[in-house]
Amino acid sequence: MTDAPRVRFAPSPTGYLHVGGARTALFNWLYARQTGGIFVLRIEDTDRDRSSDDMVSAILEGMTWLGLDWDEGPWHQADGFDRHRADAERMVEDGLAYHCFCSVDELKTRREEAEKAGTGYRYNRNCASIPAEEARARCAAGEPSTIRFRVPEGETEWDDLVHGPTRFRNEDIEDFIILRTDNTPIYNLAVVSDDVFMRITHVLRGDDHIANTPKQILLYRAMGAAVPAFGHLPMILGADGRRLSKRHGATAVGEYQTRGILPGALTNFLALLGWNPGDDQEIMTEAELIARFSIERIGKKSAVFDPEKLEWMNGQHIMATPADELLRLLAPDLVERGLASREEIVDQRDWFISLIELLKPRSRTLVAMVDQMIPFLAPTVAYDPAATAKIWKDRDAVIAGLDAVWQAFDALDEWTPETIEAALRGTAERAGVGFGKIVHPLRLALTGSQASPGIDHVVLLMGKTRVRDRINSAREILLRNETEPSHG
Ligand code: GLU
Repeated sequence: MTDAPRVRFAPSPTGYLHVGGARTALFNWLYARQTGGIFVLRIEDTDRDRSSDDMVSAILEGMTWLGLDWDEGPWHQADGFDRHRADAERMVEDGLAYHCFCSVDELKTRREEAEKAGTGYRYNRNCASIPAEEARARCAAGEPSTIRFRVPEGETEWDDLVHGPTRFRNEDIEDFIILRTDNTPIYNLAVVSDDVFMRITHVLRGDDHIANTPKQILLYRAMGAAVPAFGHLPMILGADGRRLSKRHGATAVGEYQTRGILPGALTNFLALLGWNPGDDQEIMTEAELIARFSIERIGKKSAVFDPEKLEWMNGQHIMATPADELLRLLAPDLVERGLASREEIVDQRDWFISLIELLKPRSRTLVAMVDQMIPFLAPTVAYDPAATAKIWKDRDAVIAGLDAVWQAFDALDEWTPETIEAALRGTAERAGVGFGKIVHPLRLALTGSQASPGIDHVVLLMGKTRVRDRINSAREILLRNETEPSHG
């Protein structure tokens, strides 16, 4: 029996969890969940100056919100400095790395000379042939040194899970530093030392790391460790074909949460950035993603981040979410925006559920859904000036129509979608006008806008008292000929 895969997500806490990082985390998580493997979270905080605790919290929060739970960690890379150093020293003992005593100034001069001469700079292996004894003595005497990896001759090749066989000539890789003068590890050493320690079997990460991979493979071999399988995920681009960045809009996962995107919609969307299920199914639940995910179907081609599509997908996920679950998700926003109290939400739960059912097909985000709840909850509505100019143009006819509607409503014994609809039709017939002539001004009077769900359901859920009050205030505004927003 082979051991279960062990994968990791290794963010550097130098920024919030962005969509690219979340996609990497998601692919690793899906693979672990599908295979019964272990998903490790490792915070790569060796760059103390650029890392911050706030960013670590933001990353953990983002992952938790997305439902990407980790089985081990969070490990902190900076806690492993002693092990990183020990690994470097062991490589020196084994002759696979060496102390370099070249000073920063010397290296800089050589680099500048190479640049001037137009020959590419690479470390000239000045210290590679210093006998081990001598190097030890110089270190013992306190002479500062870095440790450099002794790159062997030949080629370094791996069969990338996404890109297939990938090969680098070792002569293009200089003897790179693995430990600084101050004994802190260079990035590639820390990553490999940690991946070996955490027994990582598969490394799925962005393809901006391809150039690091040959160096890392050399380090694995030097440590006598099994080299994991590598799969490099395609880049995520904005609509203009440039690498996704702030200039394309929101890139932090937290921003999507604030905008009312459901975590399941975002993971669905991110899963399709670089992976496809092999058919045209686009909307997938988390369980479906876990079942269908496959590394073989990760593409090489960069993926385009289309925010429109994300909103559309979110609308589909909203449709598929039970109304009581949506109510639970919306409640904090309703309270915070002063539209309802906790008690009201509990007491009138059925009413809220009906309202959510009504708005579900029309809401692409949770925020948009709450916006559409305003006319049903706020004491007054703001009237869209463009709509009033168009729909309330014929003031006297509109007032007469609203009065007639109210009379018909007031006479109803029952308050159902059918009776409401019949009252509206009867009103139009009696006035000898089309249904729209009655309904459009009424919709505007009730909701402040030209667009709403079916008028019968709007009237039904708004309730008789609120409908009366809204008609009255619309009437007043019309009489004053004041169609500007009265209150928001
Ligand atoms: N810390 C690296 C990053 O945030 C990832 C390292 C890796 O996955 O090997 O880009």
